[in-house]
Amino acid sequence: GPPHGAAVRDAFLSFFRDRHGHRLVPSATVRPRGDPSLLFVNAGMNQFKPIFLGTVDPRSEMAGFRRVVNSQKCVRAGGRHNDLEDVGRDLSHHTFFEMLGNWAFGGEYFKEEACSMAWELLTQVYGIPEDRLWVSYFSGDSQTGLDPDLETRDIWLSLGVPASRVLSFGPQENFWEMGDTGPCGPCTEIHYDLAGGVGSPQLVELWNLVFMQHYREADGSLQLLPQRHVDTGMGLERLVAVLQGKRSTYDTDLFSPLLDAIHQSCGAPPYSGRVGAADEGRIDTAYRVVADHIRTLSVCIADGVSPGMSGAPLVLRRILRRAVRYSTEVLQAPPGFLGSLVPVVVETLGSAYPELEKNSVKIASLVSEDEAAFLASLQRGRRIIDRTVKRLGPSDLFPAEVAWSLSLSGNLGIPLDLVELMLEEKGVKLDTAGLEQLAQKEAQHRAQQAEADQEDRLCLDVHALEELHRQGIPTTDDSPKYNYTL
Ligand code: ATP
Ligand code: MG
Ligand code: MG
Ligand code: MG
Repeated sequence: GPPHGAAVRDAFLSFFRDRHGHRLVPSATVRPRGDPSLLFVNAGMNQFKPIFLGTVDPRSEMAGFRRVVNSQKCVRAGGRHNDLEDVGRDLSHHTFFEMLGNWAFGGEYFKEEACSMAWELLTQVYGIPEDRLWVSYFSGDSQTGLDPDLETRDIWLSLGVPASRVLSFGPQENFWEMGDTGPCGPCTEIHYDLAGGVGSPQLVELWNLVFMQHYREADGSLQLLPQRHVDTGMGLERLVAVLQGKRSTYDTDLFSPLLDAIHQSCGAPPYSGRVGAADEGRIDTAYRVVADHIRTLSVCIADGVSPGMSGAPLVLRRILRRAVRYSTEVLQAPPGFLGSLVPVVVETLGSAYPELEKNSVKIASLVSEDEAAFLASLQRGRRIIDRTVKRLGPSDLFPAEVAWSLSLSGNLGIPLDLVELMLEEKGVKLDTAGLEQLAQKEAQHRAQQAEADQEDRLCLDVHALEELHRQGIPTTDDSPKYNYTL
């Protein structure tokens, strides 16, 4: 039968380690270390940024890294790569996912080897039929004066990919950037055709091979990096879906235990994979949101990021509240539901990332506490709305200040769109003009705050780098070790 998710992960790591001499480096935490340009770790390459920049202390362990392989915990919620809004709506984006990657630093190998290893792994080791795979390369960018990457096109042709399945795209698709600033470069991507030659192709992006050569400055200009590097990333969940013959990551063994657990504790109809308008009552969307979000919450809390009031913790708090809303409003989940899913996450991910096992009790209790606090806020909010509505005249609008104090930016942390829904249920209209004014004031305040923060952060960053130089500590040092059975 098809391989389990864990076996797919292991096969990737051992292919690069055992067959191609790469060193297995553990996943860094999802909390970026000493990098204020990121809210969460969003790619496998993040922890190697000092190598790309050439700022690694020659005495540090990382300085000897030439070929590396890893499976990195990534969170894409907030920042340049923000997929939060897609989660639930589509069948391939998650807020947390595992990125499988291999690296060649300082020209250890470059385009040709990177492409041929990727092709070997996909078609020979994993056995994906070649005619299901499409590739893309960088078509250049006249604005920044970057040439088309014809070298990569020719490599794919020489590997036997027919010209009809070799496409080229501009910077939006085929120039990868870590954040608004940072290492970047042209990339080549491998896509899988779900339609399998029947009708027009339905491509899902599997693997991105980046040829790191540039650094994006804050003013938008590009500098050359001191050396060239290969940086690749492939989503484990998507790869597993392909190998298990599924159209969706949610239909794999990485998610099915969670979907089953949700079904059992909510009594909602079982998950049936519908999307968009076909998903009447948004039941399947809710399944996907809850399954996705509880993984993200668990992984983040295990790595020391808990729901809170600003920055990454605030994003996490929004994720938790979104999960609570979908589970109570759509799935009719009982209180304590989200916390009860944590052991299922630990069961599916804990052997690859033991920090989940180690922190499982803490994760479950933090999730449960926050879930209960939000449910209590909702109850209080309803009472406040009732009281306020009673005092309103028949044509009065609901006061902006009260709505504000109920909302995420105010005291109770009830998202504004939910406040509006609650008012709609009461047949009252909100003073949206007044709210707009309040929001503008808040935005101004936040901009000032951010400017002040930015200055703080710059100081911090320099300090972190100096510290790194001084101690020669690789940024991976506190990451737990893998538990693979290779
Ligand atoms: P997409 O175009 O699908 O949003 P991307 O181009 O933003 O993907 P990359 O930054 O190139 O993604 O990341 C490398 C790989 O990581 C992708 O090819 C994909 O397999 C996987 N990946 C990216 N984002 C997600 C996500 N939100 N959830 C699951 N896998 C993802
Ligand atoms: Mg994306
Ligand atoms: Mg893409
Ligand atoms: Mg991509």
